[in-house]
Order: sequence, then structure tokens, then C-alpha cells
Amino acid sequence: MLNIALFGPPGAGKGTQSEFLIKKYNLFYISTGDLLRKEMAGKTKLGLEAQSIIAAGGLVSDEIIVQIIEKTITENLGSNGFLFDGFPRTYIQAYILEGLMLKLHTSLNCLISLTVSEEESVRRLLNRGITSGRSDDNEAVIRNRLREYHDKTLPVLQFYRDRGIYLEVDGAAPIEDVRTRITGIIRNEFSKRLFNVVLFGYPGSGRGSQGRALARKYDLEYVATGPMLDEEIKRGTDIGKRITALYENGQLVPDEIVVQLIEKKLADSKGVKGFIFKGYPRTLVQSYILDGLLKKHGSSIAKIVEIELSTLELIRRLDERSKTDRCMPYDNSTAKIVKRLHEHETKTVPVIQKYNQLHGVIKIDGMGTFDEVFARISDGIEEGFKSMR
Ligand code: AMP
Repeated sequence: MLNIALFGPPGAGKGTQSEFLIKKYNLFYISTGDLLRKEMAGKTKLGLEAQSIIAAGGLVSDEIIVQIIEKTITENLGSNGFLFDGFPRTYIQAYILEGLMLKLHTSLNCLISLTVSEEESVRRLLNRGITSGRSDDNEAVIRNRLREYHDKTLPVLQFYRDRGIYLEVDGAAPIEDVRTRITGIIRNEFSKRLFNVVLFGYPGSGRGSQGRALARKYDLEYVATGPMLDEEIKRGTDIGKRITALYENGQLVPDEIVVQLIEKKLADSKGVKGFIFKGYPRTLVQSYILDGLLKKHGSSIAKIVEIELSTLELIRRLDERSKTDRCMPYDNSTAKIVKRLHEHETKTVPVIQKYNQLHGVIKIDGMGTFDEVFARISDGIEEGFKSMR
């Protein structure tokens, strides 16, 4: 997700720049001012409460803002990210935003502040008032809005300075120049971030071969926990010896070992563009672990893909694989195949459902040739990805 807050006094050009940014980065636009005007037009309880405050150029209460913003965010969870305009406007709202982002397992990438002088703000708003039809675009109210901005909104900047995500752009420059500066900031933001993909699918759906090919195409580090465990055994490391002992006792490898391996992989992979996870997370517990591990590295999941195939086709493919040299130890018995499909169904499907609610999962039809499926996945991944470049 890409989450940005556009900041600045009334008339700084936030709305104008937002129109361009939401299209370019496919973001969901949240303007608390627009939301409030909608509530007022609909004569809702919230709208009626806000009306007199807005007419006087004051700030409506944080309680009202939290209600409208939470509703809008939860209704649009599948979006590529959010662009906030006119929010946060108080120190309390900065905390509210932090809490909301945390709930979505994401964070605000940056706050871009458009600076303009008070006189320029007044000039622009009076000009806008001629056509906007907004009753608060008149000089007395404008002066009050600017006073509110200085008293309550400007202190918010320190909140973001302290977090190192505050960036300033001269809002008095021509529209095109402001746009170029903002795009530059976002590009820089993207280049700092890892592009992480999680690839889901039933055993036999082609996750492994597609995952490796995707890693090559997008220059990502392929992370498959199964082969990572095998590698430890082969190298005879301490972890490898523990895994062998567990295997010999017919026990599963505990999460704590897998966490260490992924942690090491993340720490060792300096300078990579991102990771593609295959076969992880398999359980809800592991999904929380992965979110936590990525967060520790200042990162998060960018895209989640699920390759879909019918059960019959899965069994056919696994059976076919068992007759080739690609046969896995667990491919050669129907009981084992059924067990693995069942494990996926009961443990991993709930993870996919959780991610689907939170971020949206890209569902890919797994039927067809390798290249056809590969092209479908690439298209899915590239949506929103191209605009990051
Ligand atoms: P705007 O369209 O952003 O200029 O907002 C118009 C008016 O709506 C403001 O002058 C405030 O009265 C109110 N408003 C908009 N967003 C907020 C916010 N985040 N917190 C408090 N009041 C707001």
C-alpha cells in the first residue's frame, strides 16, 4: 500500500494535486472536507452537527472525524493505498491515523506539506469562492480557517518530523512544478521500499515454478521455507541437526525455527528489490509472524496472489508429477496428497481469506500452459507496480 497525506493551509493546492496523484498511483482519495460536505448535503446527524462549525471556519470535533474516516477506510480496504487530503488536522487526528494504519498492517509513507503564504491562500480561496459555491470561501471565514490552521493544524507537522516522514514542497510554484516535485518524492519513497509478494495456491498449482520465474523476472529474492529447511540439513548446521531430529521423530518443524531462517534471509538480503514468499505463511499464526518480521524491516506485503485450480486438476497434476523426476517425497501416495490438500484447506485458506479482507488477494486462473498462467500473474502484479517506477 502507498499511503500519503497531503498537508497545507486551505488553498495550498491539495485538491488540485490530489486529482493527479490518485489517478497516477491508483489511490483511494479521502478528503475529510468532501466527506463532511456529503454528510451535510445528506442532512445526516453528523452533517447537522458539523454544519455550523464549518460555516464559521472552525474545525469539527475529532470524534466526528474519526467516525467518517474509519467508515470510509473500512469500506475501501482493497485499494492500492490512500491519499488523505485535509486529514490529519489536529495532533489527536495524527494519532488516530497512526492507529487506523496499524489496524490495516500498514503505515503512512509520508506527509507532504504544500507551503504557501497566508496572503496567497486568501487570494486563491477568494478566487475559488467565485465558482466553488462554498459558503466558507469568503474572507471572514477564510481568515478564521487560517487561524485554526496556525493554532491547531501546524503543530501536527512536528508529529511527522519526529517520525522522519515529513517532506515540504513549495506550493506557490506553478502547478506542474509542484506535481513534478511530489512525483519525485513518491518515486524516492518507492525506491526505498521492498516490493514483497506472497504467492498462494494448493500444492500442485504451480506455485514453486511460477514463484521462481517471477523472482527472476522482477529481480526479487525467492523465499520458499521448505527448500530453506532442506538446505540447513544439507549444510549440517545446528538448525539442520535440530530439523533432522524432528523429522526422524515424525514431528513438524516449529514456527520458531522457520522464523529464524526467514529473519536471517531478510537480514542477509541487502540491496534486493523485495521478496517473493512461497509456502509461507501457511497458518494464521505464521501470517502474523510474517507481518511482524516485515514490519521490523520497515516493510510490508505489497501484493498477494492466489493461483486457483479445481481439486480434480490438482490431483491429476500431483499424480502426474509423482511419475516424473520432479516427484516430491509427499507426491507418491494418495493418502499423503489428500492430507496436504486438507492441510491447505483447513489451515491456509483462512489466511488467504484474512488477507483478502485486509488487502485484497489477486486471484489467478491456474489452468493453461505455464506461460499463460505466468502472464496472468505478471499482469496482476504489475497493476499498480508500474506506476511505482
Ligand atoms: P476542506 O474542504 O478540507 O477545506 O474542509 C472544509 C472544512 O471542513 C474545514 O474548514 C473544517 O471545518 C472541516 N474539516 C475538514 N476536515 C477536517 C478535519 N480533518 N478535522 C476537523 N475539521 C475538518
